[in-house]
Amino acid sequence: MQLRYNYRVYPTSGQREALARAFGCARVVFNDALRARQAAREQGLPYISDGDLSKRVITEAKTTPQRAWLGEVSAVVLQQALADLNLAYRNFFASLSGKRKGRKVAPPRFRSRKDNRQAIRFTANARFKVLDNGRLRLPKIGDLAVRWSRALPATPSSVTIVMDAAGRYFASFVVQAGDEPLPPAEAEVGIDLGLTHFAVLSDGTKVAAPRFLRKAARKLRRLQQALSRKQRGSNNRTKAVVTVAKAHARVADTRRDWQHKLSIQIIRDNQAVYVEDLCVTGLARTRLARSVHDAGWAGFTAMLEYKAARYGRTFAKIDRFAPTSQTCSVCGRLDGPKPLNVRSWTCPCGAVHDRDVNAAINVLAAGRAESLNACGAQVRPAPVPAPRREAGIRPRAAPCSTRSTEGTPVPLGRGERQGRRP
Ligand SMILES: [Zn+2]
Repeated sequence: MQLRYNYRVYPTSGQREALARAFGCARVVFNDALRARQAAREQGLPYISDGDLSKRVITEAKTTPQRAWLGEVSAVVLQQALADLNLAYRNFFASLSGKRKGRKVAPPRFRSRKDNRQAIRFTANARFKVLDNGRLRLPKIGDLAVRWSRALPATPSSVTIVMDAAGRYFASFVVQAGDEPLPPAEAEVGIDLGLTHFAVLSDGTKVAAPRFLRKAARKLRRLQQALSRKQRGSNNRTKAVVTVAKAHARVADTRRDWQHKLSIQIIRDNQAVYVEDLCVTGLARTRLARSVHDAGWAGFTAMLEYKAARYGRTFAKIDRFAPTSQTCSVCGRLDGPKPLNVRSWTCPCGAVHDRDVNAAINVLAAGRAESLNACGAQVRPAPVPAPRREAGIRPRAAPCSTRSTEGTPVPLGRGERQGRRP
């Protein structure tokens, strides 16, 4: 499976300048190419092929005085910016034609200097190299200092350098990592995700919702107010923007870290993990939006999924319309909808249920039934995640992004898998 390994890097001021130049050139090539395709479309001309586009906005552009400076950065970086655009177009077309499942994908948009995340990608062609002294050598950038919070398991096939809104730099390596099956476990578990508790397991364990955003709310509000008092275009405003971004980054990092710990523990303890497939985007439009985003179920479920695949566990999502909280897990009686404030109920069969534990037990039962369906075969082998949001393709619709936790492997690919069901 392909995984991402992220590390914090600390460029010198000269290297930061070189990186800024490379971010800028990649953005210009991307935008030029997008503009060319849009213009062709408006004039009724055929879609410009990837090859022609590359010739036009890179090779030929470099010979013009307006774009001569494109020669100052690695050609691979520019080609990869085009590759991002081509992928964005392919996803858009596939979504239009219905070949791509899940949410509709919007057409590519222009990149901006003010985007929260600036990124460039070097492939093996670019001859980036991890030196013996631990520095990362990038063509036309220099040797970057990296904090190796853990070892790379294999030679990376590409590296993306990311600058986030908080002004931090990360190197994100794509590595082909082997599966590491854990010793078999006896237990299987169903998980009910919710707001009162982050997760309730079918064995009765309740995991409290940590509400990282809630806890930081007061500080964030204060910083946001300070920012809004700063004059537009002033240096103080720029500084305040970074401060706010840092505070948000801290919340996101803490949440992700916590989710990694919980998900790996669940995967270690259980041979099979079943989760209710929640309609996160639906819920996120309601009054509960803030709490829903703070919970970050989608990111958590994605972690369970790739870790299950990597460590040889079974994972499946249960139909989100299964009435897990209305069914008695003892006798199977469908007892009708229960308002959210009903925390426990008694079934006519005599069983007394905790609402969430009962739901988790039903998720487990549904998961077991599904994994033994039809031919008795196991539900789909875990998918190998497809390349995810690469440099500069903006995250659309991802309610909880799995961005840059230092050193923590993150799977490539999400969105590709949404809506797929055995
Ligand atoms: Zn019952």
